[in-house]
Amino acid sequence: MSLLNYKCPSCGASITYDPNQDMGHCEFCGSTFTLDELEKYNKEDQGEEKAVGQDGAQEKVQDDEEISGYTCENCGAEVVSDTTTSATFCYYCHSPVIIKRQLAGDFKPDYIVPFAIDKKKAQETFLSWANKQTYVPRSFTEDSQLEKITGVYLPYWFADVKTNVNVSGVGTTTNVYTRGDTEYTEYMDYAVNANGDFDIKGIPELAFTQIDRDLVKSVDDFSSAELRDFNMLYLSGFFSEKYDIDKEEVKSSFLKQAQSYAEDYVNSQFAQYDSVKRDVDQVDTNIEKISYVLLPTWVLTYQYLDKNYVYMLNGLTGEAFGELPVDKTKLGIRSGLIFLVVMVLALLGGRFLW
Ligand SMILES: [Zn+2]
Ligand SMILES: [Zn+2]
Repeated sequence: MSLLNYKCPSCGASITYDPNQDMGHCEFCGSTFTLDELEKYNKEDQGEEKAVGQDGAQEKVQDDEEISGYTCENCGAEVVSDTTTSATFCYYCHSPVIIKRQLAGDFKPDYIVPFAIDKKKAQETFLSWANKQTYVPRSFTEDSQLEKITGVYLPYWFADVKTNVNVSGVGTTTNVYTRGDTEYTEYMDYAVNANGDFDIKGIPELAFTQIDRDLVKSVDDFSSAELRDFNMLYLSGFFSEKYDIDKEEVKSSFLKQAQSYAEDYVNSQFAQYDSVKRDVDQVDTNIEKISYVLLPTWVLTYQYLDKNYVYMLNGLTGEAFGELPVDKTKLGIRSGLIFLVVMVLALLGGRFLW
């Protein structure tokens, strides 16, 4: 039993996480339940937890062989998933499925930011964006296309970095003024320093290779997020991926980012000087803690003339970014018109000239 499917205490149907109510919701009978209520009700599952642990050991062997088949508890069909997927849906009965093994041990997230934007809101945001664009193929905004918008939790590393800054030197201000016919330049030197410790909390780094990093970066401002302790219920009804970039690999990036925050801080302290000559210039950074965090993103991929386009939406703030396929037929009409206008002008011109 390595799959988890939250059941409705009232009717037994599948429970999904509802971003609007911040509760578990049964789509079948409409009931809503708190995290605690669902945990209590689905406690029988917990009884099997130990057995799961043992299973887990056996499945580890399978993992090496990259077998990722699971049987759906709901309909008995095989649930096929990528080796990195931790939450998905049964292909046949569409019940939400959480693959516990992908969330165990080193892969157990520390924190999660649950979706605050639901599917309907994500679709509306996309539509109003698409309708503002000049060239959009009609199929881009069809219902069947909108249905494909997918809520996925992406894995991130968050680092807390302790930074010590020790910078001192001479700051100079320059003042130019004119008296009579003479221009004077006045220099004033000041001893300046910026010293101290500060903590930089939660520097994020995407921990997943199978998505366009630049696109994700354009919508991954989660600085307003409140991190919650991880709970599997938040995954129910969404897709979720586990990290495929180890935290060791991102350490140097964290230190570099901390260095640049520290540099910004120092510069802000010296902003009133026209130039600063640094005699001591030392910034030490030290990673205190790295947490594993899942962040919510809506993704819509669209294929047009054999090319893939992606629209992404921050699942917390609704901030969005999209690439657009240019509709060749619409473009054709537009340039055809321009061509026609030019032709007419040339003919008219010709007539006047003659
Ligand atoms: Zn129900
Ligand atoms: Zn099923």
